[in-house]
Amino acid sequence: MKIAAVRTHLLEHRLAVPFQSASMRFDRRAHVLVEIVCDDGTTGWGECLGPARPNAAVVAAYTPWLIGADLLETEKIWARLYNALRDQGQRGLALTALSGIDIALWDIKGKHFGVTVSTLLGGRFRETVRAYATGSFKRDGVDRVEDNAAEVARYRAEGFHASKIKIGFGVKEDLAVVRTVREAVGPDMRLMVDANHGYDVLEALEFGRKAAELDIDWFEEPVVPEQLGAYREVRAGQPIAVAGGETWHSRWGMREPVETRAVDILQPDLAGVGGFTEARRVADMAALHGIRIVPHVWGTAVHIAAALQFMASMVPNPVRVDPIEPILEFDRTENPFRQAVIKTPIEHDQGVVKIPNGPGLGIEIDRDALAEFRMRDD
Ligand SMILES: [Mg+2]
Repeated sequence: MKIAAVRTHLLEHRLAVPFQSASMRFDRRAHVLVEIVCDDGTTGWGECLGPARPNAAVVAAYTPWLIGADLLETEKIWARLYNALRDQGQRGLALTALSGIDIALWDIKGKHFGVTVSTLLGGRFRETVRAYATGSFKRDGVDRVEDNAAEVARYRAEGFHASKIKIGFGVKEDLAVVRTVREAVGPDMRLMVDANHGYDVLEALEFGRKAAELDIDWFEEPVVPEQLGAYREVRAGQPIAVAGGETWHSRWGMREPVETRAVDILQPDLAGVGGFTEARRVADMAALHGIRIVPHVWGTAVHIAAALQFMASMVPNPVRVDPIEPILEFDRTENPFRQAVIKTPIEHDQGVVKIPNGPGLGIEIDRDALAEFRMRDD
């Protein structure tokens, strides 16, 4: 089986109500899918984390090295593409674009053998995962504290066992938000916080020390991802477990955070770290050092499906009768094409998501939705 064509699909939706994290303002949702077609007509789908047009440009740059390649040779293709941009690449778009390609190749490989990607990765340890609700961004024109509390209470009512709150807007406001949310949802719901690297070390230490009594499961991206020494300081100087990794790419990008224990929880993104090919290596590295993995997810159902296939194959660590199960990051913010791009949406039931069990990623793309949400040129 040879690769005959590589295409990208740019998707976009303008938000009715803009929202922001500590580091980014969103007035639209935009994502890019990668479609790879083989000479026998088999088609695979992937997705790249991050800005849609730049990712599509890098996928196009990789394409000459892909045409005519034997797509079952995923490891050889990965090495060839990585090496093609290595001297000016190594991380960032070079890896997020490669991730989308790698996910599409594994989708095709699964379809070729008639098995799920998780089966190809070694087998399925689980058929379902619990999801946690990602939301609590700061929307325009509302009382942020009350808005976040009402939102998380809604997730609890829908059956989610856990939810992640966006912080990084100043320690005082952030503490008020987390306190109000905790009061609104009670003691049982699991809460995490994500600063989207909006704090400096002093703010992160102050927040962590004061918020610890509110029973927070993890403190995500407290400081900018380049400053691993700052990560270690935050981890050592306050009681909440530190999480990070959505912007660290490839085994080389993950190596120092893991070996120096900059985080308690590592969050590789399938669509950023280098696809399935590289995520396996990162998971092995984290397991060697006893660091827990919770994959990062921010995209369409293609991205979610890739994360689910990977999570199905994650080896319990430690192996025990009642193991620690991975949990799925489930974005609940406005995005009408997130699930519309596939024919059978990946939804939750009381906070639990079934892992698709069809060949490849186990999803079928809805091309009408790709047309409906196609990015405009303006
Ligand atoms: Mg995050």
